[in-house]
Amino acid sequence: MTWYKSCPRCRAGDVTENRDSYGHYVLCVQCGYYLTDPEIAWLRHGLSLRDRTAPGRQIGIAARVPARR
Ligand SMILES: [Zn+2]
Repeated sequence: MTWYKSCPRCRAGDVTENRDSYGHYVLCVQCGYYLTDPEIAWLRHGLSLRDRTAPGRQIGIAARVPARR
């Protein structure tokens, strides 16, 4: 799968899924940036990486940690 203009580093780059002997990874074809697991999760949910820091849109993985102890 490829996400167009979704690179969190160069913004204009297309990122594409790949697999090699080390496993699965997502790479920007423009600048060669390897996305982190949280960034890949964001792409899979169809959310723009640019929305990640927008107010009120903190849907990150860390937010799912239970508040109760
Ligand atoms: Zn890039």
